[in-house]
Amino acid sequence: MPIDPNLEIYCPACQWEPDGGAHWVCDCGCVWNTFDTGGVCPQCRYRWRRTGCPSCTVWSLHVDWYHGLDEEVAELVEAALSAPSGVCCSLNES
Ligand SMILES: [Zn+2]
Ligand SMILES: [Zn+2]
Repeated sequence: MPIDPNLEIYCPACQWEPDGGAHWVCDCGCVWNTFDTGGVCPQCRYRWRRTGCPSCTVWSLHVDWYHGLDEEVAELVEAALSAPSGVCCSLNES
């Protein structure tokens, strides 16, 4: 994913900024930095539409972590993140 110089990434709930560490754990057991891959597990390719915050534990839409995006770019990111990923339950998130 191209990085915009205006882009800031932080938790929409508590403003915690990812520090580049591997704070996210996939169901497959993979531990990685989800912002390196745009919310996709590098091991099983599962696409996490929501990202949990290691600081406040609130789950937010992955795209909501990106701030300073142009409206247009935000829509592209949203579209990319909501693209079918071979997982049948993407419409069934809670
Ligand atoms: Zn995985
Ligand atoms: Zn947070």
